[in-house]
Amino acid sequence: MYLIIRCQNCATFTYIDRFQNWKLCPVCGETMQRNGVQEYLDVENHHDADAIIAELERYLHQNKKVDLTAEETGKLRAAYARLVGSSIR
Ligand SMILES: [Zn+2]
Repeated sequence: MYLIIRCQNCATFTYIDRFQNWKLCPVCGETMQRNGVQEYLDVENHHDADAIIAELERYLHQNKKVDLTAEETGKLRAAYARLVGSSIR
């Protein structure tokens, strides 16, 4: 399981293993504490994390937004839950 998080320093989306407590930002080198940053979404694997991060960046860019609202985060989680539920495993 991975958590999609965002660097507080440079706003880059990245992901962290659920059992890791911190991660260095791949862009600016900031130390991100798992408990200190906003969690956007819980995903099953890093392929999903990469795909969702790309989608998030595209969405924010297209809508000229800097961050998701709580409502948008909720929608994202619901959409991901549907996606996982509908895939054949
Ligand atoms: Zn950063």
